Order: sequence, then C-alpha cells, then structure tokens
Amino acid sequence: MVVSNATLANSSAVNPPAPAPPTRRGVLSGGMSIELIRQAILTGATDDLADIEMPATFRGVTVHADEQAMFAGMESSAKDPRASLHLDDVALPELAPDEVFVAVMASSINFNTVWSAIFEPLATFGFLTRLGRESVWGARHDQPFHVLGSDAAGVVVRVGSAVRDWKCGDAVTVHCNHVDDQDPTAHDDSMMATNQRIWGFETNYGGLAEITLVKANQLMPKPAHLTWEEAAVNALTNSTSYRMLVSPNGAQMTQGQSVLIWGASGGIGAYAVQYVLNGGGIPIGVVSSPERAELVRAMGCEAVIDRTAEGYKFWSDETTQDPSEWRRFGKKIRELIGTDPDIVFEHPGRSTMGASVFVAKRGGLIMTCAATSGFMIEYDNRYLWMNLKTIKGCHFANYREAYEANRLICEGKIHPTLSATYALDDVGEAAAAVQKNQHEGKLGVLVLAPEEGLGVTDPELRAQLLPEITRFSRHAQGGKKSGH
Ligand code: NAP
Repeated sequence: MVVSNATLANSSAVNPPAPAPPTRRGVLSGGMSIELIRQAILTGATDDLADIEMPATFRGVTVHADEQAMFAGMESSAKDPRASLHLDDVALPELAPDEVFVAVMASSINFNTVWSAIFEPLATFGFLTRLGRESVWGARHDQPFHVLGSDAAGVVVRVGSAVRDWKCGDAVTVHCNHVDDQDPTAHDDSMMATNQRIWGFETNYGGLAEITLVKANQLMPKPAHLTWEEAAVNALTNSTSYRMLVSPNGAQMTQGQSVLIWGASGGIGAYAVQYVLNGGGIPIGVVSSPERAELVRAMGCEAVIDRTAEGYKFWSDETTQDPSEWRRFGKKIRELIGTDPDIVFEHPGRSTMGASVFVAKRGGLIMTCAATSGFMIEYDNRYLWMNLKTIKGCHFANYREAYEANRLICEGKIHPTLSATYALDDVGEAAAAVQKNQHEGKLGVLVLAPEEGLGVTDPELRAQLLPEITRFSRHAQGGKKSGH
C-alpha cells in the first residue's frame, strides 16, 4: 500500500535524519529502522544488520496506476517523467523463501525508467497484474503503484529461508533478470523462459528505493574497488552489451572483427566499445557531438563518426528513406576502417535500422536490443537476403552472462561509465536528462549512501584504475555540471 505520495518535486531531501537512538528491537518507524541500517553499513557494523528490525515502510520512486493516462494524446518528447514519477513511502512486502531484501546504497537510471515514466510503449501495470496471477507470491507485485529501477548496489539485510549462498551483510550488485526457476523453459538459457521478466520494470519493488526485493539468483558481488554509485550503474547495460557482443547467445565477436556501435558514448554503447577493444575487435563509434567523439576516442576507439557533423538524413520525410544517405554512411565507414562492419550494435531502431542493414558486411550480423526512436522498423530486404546478412534480437542477459560481465568489472577489465550522480529526490530530473539524450554513459542515484565516494574496500586496485573509472565523470565535469 502507498502510505504517502509526495511528488519528487516536493518530497523531503535525501539527507540522513539525526542519528537514531540505539534501539534494535521492537516496532520501529520506517525512517528509524532505515537509519539504523544505513548507520550499520556506513560504520562497517554489517554483522548487526540481522538484528535490526526491518522497517514497516521505505521510500521508493514510483508511478501510479491511476495516472497512467496522464500523457494521452501527447508526443513522446512532450511526456515529462518529472510529472509522473513520485517518491512514496511504500509498505514492506513479505519475503519469499528464495528472495532477499537489499538495502540500496545507490541505483541508476536506465532507459526503462523513462519508458515506465512516460507509459510507453505501454503502461507497466499490465506486467504486474499478469505476475500477480501466477502465484501467491506473485500477487504481492500487483499494486496500484510500481516501484521502479533495474539496478542497485547495496547490502543484503534479510535472506529468505531457502537462500544458501548469500547472507546478511554481503555487499552486492543486482542484475535484473527475474526468472521462475520452476519453469522448464527457464533452464538452458533463462532469457528464453516464457515468463522471464525484468526486475523493476516487469516486477514491482525495484532498485530506485531504500529497500528492494530481489531473488537470490539476481545477486552478484559488489566490485570492491568501486564506490556505491559506480558499482550501481553497470549491471543492466554492461550485461546487455556482454550478451550482445561476447556471448555465444549474441554475436560472439572474434579477434579482428569490426563492430559499428550506435550511441558509442551512451548507456550500452560505452560498454560495447570496451568489449570490442578487450576482444581484439575494431570498433567504429557513432556519436552526435565533437565532445562525445573525443570521449569515445579517449576510450581507445580510433574510428569515430559524428553523425551530427556529417548531417546524415536517412529519412527524407516521415515515410521515405534515402538510400543515397545509407551509401554515404557506408563510404565513411570504409574510409575509416577500410571495410564494412562485421557486426552492427543496433538499438536506435527506426531512425537507423535501414542504414544498419545496408552497411553491414556481406554475411554480417545486425544485433538489435531496442528501438529508442521507434519500433516499427523499415529496411530494404534485398540488402539482407542477397548479401546473406542476419538480424538477431537480443535482450538483457542470463545469470551466467551477467555474472561474467560483473566479474570483468570486479577485476578492473571493464569500467563503469558513471558521468553524474543524482539524489533520490531528483530521479525525475535524471530520467528527463536520459529521455532527452543529454547525458553520457550512465547516471547514478544516491539512495542510502549520504554522499558520493563511499563504499570502496579495495583502494589499491582503485588507485591503479582511477583514470579509467572516472573517465566519464571527469568528462562531464569538464563539459557541463554534474547532476548532483
Ligand atoms: P542511452 O544512454 O540514452 O544511449 C543511447 C545512445 O543512442 C545515445 O547516447 C545516442 O548517442 C544514441 N541515439 C539516440 N537516438 C538516436 C538516433 N535517433 N539515431 C542514432 N543514435 C541515437 O540509452 P541506453 O541505455 O544505451 O539504451 C539504448 C536503448 O537500448 C534504449 O531504448 C533502451 O531501452 C534499450 N536497452 C535495451 C536493453 C535490453 O535488454 N533489451 C538493455 C539496455 C538498454 P548519440 O546521440 O551520441 O549518437
């Protein structure tokens, strides 16, 4: 039940309240219990967490079912997430045996937060209702509010009776693949499960909240050399890029292959650049400004195309594409790398798919995981079949893939792309920035962490990797103000 529904604009600041009295047992208000949890984590007293009473309520970023028609008839770009996102006090749900509660120190904005907030392509409440019909435990998710967020870094504060490998006090990150392990189709590749869901988008109680409800098989160790906010931004986009490019379920890129990466400084694109370089491939990064081109070059991507400077107009009007523009784009790629790309990392969708199918090499692969600019796609099929190309759909990652992608972060072989950090109260602003393509890399959100820079337990590795870890935030500070 939603206890209060202050909007983000008028809710109270994220600053911690005064230290709570040392009461550990009995009925605690949400704020008091949350404060004890926060203090235990900040002071390293995580052994005490199991003894702290869970809060009756916690704060979380929500959309409301009774507002899902609020943008009806408006253009997508006019739908403002700041109007639909709320910061509510939410009643703590019951914990199932295979689940844990995580106290969220930091979270991040993903594009799915934007989709949920503007109720496109459809409102998310239908997902919650369907989950609610599946089981008694599923019914907890079917609420008139939806707590959003598909990333989190934090500390386990309760484990269900069937949880074996995690305990209270473990520092974790959370991946968003929500799988029913009693479903036979979930075995082999769990992304193929008929009722596979994205936590915080197709399930309730997501990561943009003080407490999140996750299955134990969503947990991964927190990278020790990263701050809470750096650790929080990776799982969704990093795992997606890993599956798209590295996994046998995706492109399984080999050494020397060339990969055209749309949005190479964006959420999934900036991890794609890192995977192509790590794997001995040749990235061609597409961006929309000289500053982004510089950022992507600084990551080691030598071939960069500024699509704004080149002025590509793949669509001459709303219904007509211009193949001469595809040709001009393909010529530019050949000028830069001497060949056509083996793989296209595709996600803008309607704006670019015609060009992506055209420029891919004979026998090449177009990996697509999204359609930000529109999902009714049009391309010239002659270029696909005559040149034996393949379009392959891809969606998030299974636990194994997400775990491998997280391991690479833990080992300092893939780096976070955090460019700015926002307070929980400012999630609407952060989502609006992502919606308007005003950010680079990822935007972090402080939840229980009272300030940036906390949570590092391996300062030596951090010191070695600092230039890579902070590349996007230094770029943002050089070019524009931080969100926080
Ligand atoms: P993002 O951080 O906003 O980055 C997207 C990038 O795409 C931007 O940096 C922008 O780069 C580029 N772009 C935007 N519109 C474009 C257009 N019309 N033509 C060419 N380039 C364009 O978002 P993200 O996190 O990377 O996510 C991208 C999409 O993938 C979203 O739709 C998201 O929902 C989806 N996604 C899907 C999955 C999945 O599992 N299926 C996972 C993650 C994300 P420039 O302007 O610099 O070119």
